[in-house]
Parts: sequence; structure tokens; C-alpha cells
Amino acid sequence: MTGHRLNFRLVLAGLLWCALVGLSLAWNIHQANEQRQELALETARSFFDQIVITRRWNARHGGVYVPVTPETQPNPYLKDPRRDLRISDDLTLTLVNPAFMTRQLAEIAQQSKGVQFHITSLKPLRPENQPRDWEADALRQFEQGLAEKGEIVGGRSYRYMAPLITEQACLRCHEEQGYREGDVRGGISVTLPRVAAIPLAALTFSHLAIGLSGLLVIAIMGQMLSGYHHQLRELAMVDALTGVRNRRFFNEQFQQAWQSGRRQQTPLAVILCDIDHFKDYNDTFGHPAGDQCLRQVAQALQEKLRRGGDSCARYGGEEFVLVLPNTGLPGLRNVAEALRLAVMALNIRHPNSPTGCVTISLGGTVAEDAYPEPEVLVQQADQALYQAKQRGRNRCEIHAIPRDRVATMMTG
Ligand code: GH3
Ligand code: MG
Ligand code: MG
Repeated sequence: MTGHRLNFRLVLAGLLWCALVGLSLAWNIHQANEQRQELALETARSFFDQIVITRRWNARHGGVYVPVTPETQPNPYLKDPRRDLRISDDLTLTLVNPAFMTRQLAEIAQQSKGVQFHITSLKPLRPENQPRDWEADALRQFEQGLAEKGEIVGGRSYRYMAPLITEQACLRCHEEQGYREGDVRGGISVTLPRVAAIPLAALTFSHLAIGLSGLLVIAIMGQMLSGYHHQLRELAMVDALTGVRNRRFFNEQFQQAWQSGRRQQTPLAVILCDIDHFKDYNDTFGHPAGDQCLRQVAQALQEKLRRGGDSCARYGGEEFVLVLPNTGLPGLRNVAEALRLAVMALNIRHPNSPTGCVTISLGGTVAEDAYPEPEVLVQQADQALYQAKQRGRNRCEIHAIPRDRVATMMTG
């Protein structure tokens, strides 16, 4: 997996996380809204039930008598010959029926709690009991069988309504309107001035905190992953025995160097080198010593490379390949000779070598005016190396690119 793909996946993980947190926020807001509606419905319903129970008590007694006071005047809509009872000079009792009692309870509730009750009907006895539009709609729905209705209005208040069903005791006052037992006679609406608000700020803040923490964790994990990824890539490009770059690295890097050299019209030099009489060295000192010798030679080659873009890789066996971007023919000659001398300077004893120490042969070539394919460059360097071996080893041979091998000419 390349670094770009890793970054892309991390960004994707971040986006998914944000979407998840966003979904959770939406779901929580939805749940909170459902809960406050449920709570408001329960509250309004119990107000309504309380009133209905009180009315039923009143109706069962056929109304109750209370003293006439400035606040409680005889009910003009009550057509009962025994509506008012004069007990003494300063005490007159008047009959209070369920409807009158509901109005009085409504006044007390509104003064103390701000809760509004409204007793209403599609055929009201009193004009004040005329339904508002939403109440009239609800009443018609109750006649179709709807049991109750409740909704939040204006964001903060809640209105609820349920029907009043005609009972035996109600017929005393309402029979002449044509009602029979079980009919929807009207309804009582309950308006709660304030319902619990959705804790929007708290929900948003907590989700923001969770979202940001998650993103932080993803970013930290991403950094760690990208670090491990980089380390793994580095390891995969290193030769285990010698510690210099391996063939896989060369394959990738040489292609890139070739492409950028051709694009920028800068020379690109390649050197192949091979340890002389190495089989003999192994035969004389054994493979472990051969390995140690390989390590020393590899390090000596590596240390001679000064420029950042230069690279040294183990090409295979006791062969190394060096790529020198932006290096022309004179530079190539200098570097190749310096490499040969550096290996000699190690002075690793090799009794069967003509020089008495370990040496290398080098073959180099350079793409300069002409840019042949990368494989052609390596072939040329290999031929030059072969020639260096033929001519006695411990030497550098540089081959120019023959015209007939140039597949791609620089044009601009
Ligand atoms: P020349 O001068 O022509 O290059 O002769 P040479 O003996 O170096 O070449 P040859 O191809 O005959 O032998 C290469 C030897 O390199 C044979 C092999 O045992 C040895 N070799 C290759 N890889 C390793 C390695 O990883 N460790 C050790 N110790 N030896 C290796
Ligand atoms: Mg070899
Ligand atoms: Mg060899």
C-alpha cells in the first residue's frame, strides 16, 4: 500500500467517523424530542383526567350548592327552578353544575400554574364555549373516533384535547340538545404554557467533543501507522546481509531517476561493479568471511556516494549497482575510480588475487545526449563490466551508448 492510499483511507475513516457522530446527534435530538412530547402528553392527560373525575363527582350529585359571592354569581344558563336557595338574609346558595365548575377550576389553574383549560363543544350552550379552529377540528376528529390529540405549538407550549363522552348524569342538562349516552358532547382542551426544551446545546457540545476526540485518535493512530508503514517500506528496500539498498529499491528508483532525467534533460550515469575472484575468497576463508567481506565492500561503496540522489544497491551475489543522477561522463569516471580505490583501501587480504587484496571491477555508462531505455543502460554497463574483467580486473571501463541502441532520442 502506498503512502497516498494510506492517507486516503485515513481521510475516509475520519469522514466516516464524522458521519457516524452526526447520525448519533440527529438520533439523540430525535429521541429527546419524542421524550418531551411523551412527557407533555402524560402531563396534559393527567390534568384532563383530574377534571373529568371532578366533573363526574359533580354530575353524580346533580350539581353542588355553593354560597353566592361576588366571584360566584348564579349561572344564567342553568334552567333549574331550584337553582338558587335563600338560606338566610346573608346566605344564598346557588347550584354549580359540572360546566360551571370546570370554568372556575380553569380560572384557578391559570392563575396558579398558567395551565389553560377550555371546555368547548360544536353546539355550545354558552357563546364563550365556542371552539377555536384547532379545537373544532379536533372535535370533528373525535366524532370520527379519535381518542385524544396533542401537539407542540410554537416550539415551547403544548396543547392537548380529549372528548367529553355523554354519561347518564350529563343528560339532566344536555338531553334537550339531543345528546344520548355515549355521544361526543364536546371536549376539554388543556394548554401547557411551557414544555421541557430539547437540550440542544448539551447534545451538540458532547457530540462535538466525542467527534473531535475520535478525530484526534484517528490522526494519532494514522501518524503511527504511517510511521510503521514508512519503516516497513524502508525495511523492504534494504538488503539484509549488507545493509545497503536491495534490487527491489533499484528497480523502483532507477525508473524514477530515468524518467526525471529524461524530462529535465540531465545526464544519468549507471555503474555495475563486481568483486574480483570472490569465489576464490569464499573457498579460501569460508562463507561467513565472504559475507563479512561483502558487507565491508558494500559500506565502502555506499560511503563514497556524496550526493543525495545517488544510490548504491546490491544487484545480486557479489555485484552492486550504483545510480548517479545528474552525472555526466567526467563525473562518472571520477566516481568509478574513487569506488575502485575505496575498496582497495579496505585492504582485505586475498592471497589468490594478483594485488593480494580484495578488488572490484566496474563497468559504467551514461545517458546524456541520448536517452535509451533503462534496460539498455544496464546492458551497456554490464558489457563494460565484462570488458573490465576481460582486461585484467581491478579496473573501470566506461561505455558510451552506441547510436543503434538509442531507442528514445532527446528532442527538446
Ligand atoms: P570474477 O572475478 O570473474 O567475478 O570471479 P568470481 O569468483 O568473483 O565470480 P563467480 O561468479 O565465479 O563467483 C561469485 C561468487 O560469489 C560465488 C558465490 O559463492 C559468491 N557469492 C554470491 N553471493 C554471496 C553471498 O551472499 N555470500 C557469500 N559469502 N558469497 C556469495
Ligand atoms: Mg559475479
Ligand atoms: Mg566476481
